[in-house]
Amino acid sequence: MDKDDVMIAVNIDGEVLIHIRNIGPTDHVTLCGVDGTDETIGQRPATLPKDAKIDCNMCRIYWDGFMETKIRKSWFK
Ligand SMILES: [Zn+2]
Repeated sequence: MDKDDVMIAVNIDGEVLIHIRNIGPTDHVTLCGVDGTDETIGQRPATLPKDAKIDCNMCRIYWDGFMETKIRKSWFK
């Protein structure tokens, strides 16, 4: 998977943060649960800059958490 496929930029009340794109079953656009397309709560998509780096602290917490668990595929039924 390409970096651009994994990252997504969202403007929330004028602040653009780079998130991990949602990889789960919910309709949020980010892993951390941001809707990302709701102008009524100040959220709209933003252009992903070249050489973007993930700077959302919540997405970082999720990533750190997954890495810490070291969950193996064999643990799934
Ligand atoms: Zn995030």
